[in-house]
Amino acid sequence: MRVHVEPETCIGCELCPSICPDLFQMGEDGIARAIIEHVPGELQDCANEAAQSCPVEAIKIT
Ligand code: SF4
Repeated sequence: MRVHVEPETCIGCELCPSICPDLFQMGEDGIARAIIEHVPGELQDCANEAAQSCPVEAIKIT
């Protein structure tokens, strides 16, 4: 499983790092980014939760 934040879509609501701080952080530009691209098994549930919770669907999981 891979996770990616589309920077042009993210509105900087800070929800994903609050849901899954081991996977997402806010950049100095106010846009979220994935700390790690390949999601380890123990973080897959929170990655999915963050993606489903993002108000603009900026988090892509493949
Ligand atoms: S939840 Fe979505 S809009 Fe909010 S910071 Fe994360 S990627 Fe950006």
